[in-house]
Amino acid sequence: MNLQQLQEEYQGCQKCPLLVGNRTQVVFGSGSPNVKIILLGEAPGASEDKLGVPFCGQSGKVLDILLQAAGLSRNEIFITNTILCRPPNNRAPVSEEINNCHPRLETLLAIMQPRIIVTIGNFATQCILGKTGIKALHGKIFEHNGMKVVPVIHPANYLYSGRNPQLLEEMKQDFKVIAKVVADSQKQKTLGEF
Ligand code: URA
Repeated sequence: MNLQQLQEEYQGCQKCPLLVGNRTQVVFGSGSPNVKIILLGEAPGASEDKLGVPFCGQSGKVLDILLQAAGLSRNEIFITNTILCRPPNNRAPVSEEINNCHPRLETLLAIMQPRIIVTIGNFATQCILGKTGIKALHGKIFEHNGMKVVPVIHPANYLYSGRNPQLLEEMKQDFKVIAKVVADSQKQKTLGEF
């Protein structure tokens, strides 16, 4: 199976009745299918539901600032979410929804075989690492099934903080960690270690 076939399989997904009735569309993900860095967010919001692109609203603008701090552009990464459909009133996803969408994530990882996963916020971090507590976990590098996983604070936290510049600086530092993980992984690839 390739990425396009996976996307087609989930286009009309009916697994979560409360999400199906609320969504405009399934927001599968965006970016190049050939990249080795996946960013995993929480769930589509109103803008994402409307346009079909992850992180295209206010949080996405913050994410773009952070990507810039890491020297990364959106076509060097693939972005998706723990669930593909917008929850009503932007509530948090419930565990049944995350579980329903998990086989899709597993298949995506099997197809793309990323070297690096950036888990954005608590839900994505728990989904991949089974760990909670983003305040303690962010900016650290974990090994998981042969991948490097770097949890980061969700951009929405910066918005909720009233755009606290100190928090943004801390978030940029995490993306500098990501830049280093990317550079190290490219070096290893050049040396034939991958
Ligand atoms: N927040 C997320 O976690 N994902 C999106 O796609 C947009 C906002």
